Amino acid sequence: SLIDEEKELYLLNLTDITSIKNEHILIEKKAYHDGLTNLYNRHKFNELFEKELARVKRYNHPLSMAVLDIDNFKVFNDTYGHLKGDEILIKIANSLGSQLRNTDIYARWGGEEFVILFIETKLENAILCSNNVRKNIENLKNDLDTKVTVSIGVSDYKEGDNLDSLFQRCDKALYRAKEKGRNKVEFN
Ligand code: GH3
Ligand code: MG
Ligand code: MG
Repeated sequence: SLIDEEKELYLLNLTDITSIKNEHILIEKKAYHDGLTNLYNRHKFNELFEKELARVKRYNHPLSMAVLDIDNFKVFNDTYGHLKGDEILIKIANSLGSQLRNTDIYARWGGEEFVILFIETKLENAILCSNNVRKNIENLKNDLDTKVTVSIGVSDYKEGDNLDSLFQRCDKALYRAKEKGRNKVEFN
């Protein structure tokens, strides 16, 4: 504000918003990430999916998706306890990135389920990659005398798909992987 026109004196009031900004970043991080694994949560995945879907429709690029579900996790929890179960969830979450391209999007869908969106990827390659993810998880070391595996259902975008319809096809494939004995990748 102007103090003295003749002397050209102004009063300038600045506020340091660093703490507000930092708090905002923290709130956003909490809203978009799963508290246990630190992966994106379902809400964020939905948002990123919509963006990707718009691109796929516009440019006709391929897009594939996988749904992962830990095998017999209830038995694992019952045997080793919920805390050990949580450790496994974190370990699996941390392992996903190593098998994916950094453009791929993955999230904790909820409970013991994860989703992967393979950007610019045809079904065939998504199946290959899902198998790498599956094998890598199978080989993860833990301090228990047991192996933890996942079953994976894969599908690709088809004209008219939305997240629900694509997810449902992945889920059907996942169901088949479970039926066939688990620790498998099936596609639809
Ligand atoms: P399936 O191979 O058919 O998937 O069998 P499952 O036992 O994994 O499937 P079910 O749906 O019967 O059980 C899921 C289990 O996942 C039960 C639940 O306690 C566990 N679970 C879900 N979320 C968490 C979590 O955040 N932490 C832990 N430790 N366990 C969880
Ligand atoms: Mg499940
Ligand atoms: Mg399960």
